[in-house]
This record gives sequence, C-alpha cells and structure tokens, in this order.
Amino acid sequence: MGIALVFPALPTVTLAVTGRVERFPIRRIFCVGRNYAEHAREMGADDKEPPFFFTKPADAVVESGGTIPYPTATTNLHHEGELVVAIGKAGVMVTEDAAAAMIWGHAAGNDLTRRDLQADAKASRRPWDMAKGFDKSAVVGAIRPGSIPDGTLRCLVNGVIRQEARLSDMIWSPPAIIAALSQLVSLAPGDLIFTGTPAGVGPLVRGDSCRVEIDGLQSATVTIA
Ligand code: MN
Repeated sequence: MGIALVFPALPTVTLAVTGRVERFPIRRIFCVGRNYAEHAREMGADDKEPPFFFTKPADAVVESGGTIPYPTATTNLHHEGELVVAIGKAGVMVTEDAAAAMIWGHAAGNDLTRRDLQADAKASRRPWDMAKGFDKSAVVGAIRPGSIPDGTLRCLVNGVIRQEARLSDMIWSPPAIIAALSQLVSLAPGDLIFTGTPAGVGPLVRGDSCRVEIDGLQSATVTIA
C-alpha cells in the first residue's frame, strides 16, 4: 500500500525533450551568479571570483511559449538569457571529468530577476531568494540530449537583440560548474543548472516578448502579460 497523504501531492514538474515523447522530470534548480566577465563588471563585481550559487524552486519553471503575469513586488523585472544544463546522473564532490559524464542535456533559459529586490538584498546583505526564486521565474526551452552547445547565445526583446555572447566566453564551463556545485550539495538526476548570463541584462515591461536563442537548441520564449 502507498503512503496515505493528507491531500494529493502536486505532480512533478517536467520539461519537453527535443525528439522524444518522454519528458524530463525536474528535481531542483541551481543558478550560477556570475559567469561572463563583462556581465560581472556591469554588476560591479570582480570577474575572477569562483562561481557562487543560488536556487529557484522546481515549480518556478515556465515552458517556452508561456505567458506570465508581470511579477508582484517589483518595478524592475530583468531578463537573463542563459544556457541551462540538465543533470542525468548523481554525483557529489566530483572532478570535472566525472562532472561531464553527469550531463544529460541542455536547454535555453531565462533567469527572470526582480533586479530592484536583488539590489536591496545586496545592499542589506540579505538573501536573494525573493529576487530570484519567485513564481514563474525560470523560463526553459526543450532539453536537447547530448553534447554541450558551443555556439552563440542571444536574448531578444520584441525581436531586438539585448544580449549576445559566445558560450565559449563563459568563465566556468558546465563541467567546472558541476564540479564546483557538487562540493556543496549532492547532485541528482533531474537537477537543472542555469549557467549564468552575459552582459546586456535589462528590463522587461508588460506586453514584451522575450526570446533566448542558443544555436542548436529550442528557444526559450516568454511573454509578459
Ligand atoms: Mn542569472
């Protein structure tokens, strides 16, 4: 007999997989704070620091093509176009070589951010959770199984390019990020990692359509209602 629950458990959040009917079940979402030198500088930070991490809840995921309300509690919602890594094998305290073998696939993503709340949190040395981990803050396209994309990432707002960078401009590669994160937590299948955004972050307003494109992957598109 199964475990009796006081109310039905919510279904697992899942994402589409390119070329497959089966969907990818999501466990947790981790994000890298700074991973492109030019963006680190635009945020007033050193570009030589080791990667640091924050999280979003799994149910913050919005599939590409979704429409979301303008979030509460902010007047400065920002886009952050990013490569997302999907983990398919468990690992803790792994080397970069072992980390590479834990990757299941990749997707385009948008780490939506309440920039005003983030600035307040930084100034008052408080956590970033409500600036980053709010409802519908993780836009993700379909996950493509296999190798790490090596092309260009673009983030367009209403068709106008706001962010554009080579994925090779990342300070920390996906295996290096996984190895670093695995020193802090045990990673498991279903974990997603947003790998950081390049320069050019900026505001989204009601009515905007924001599309994150990565060569070879489905775009991650969201419309702000
Ligand atoms: Mn980000």
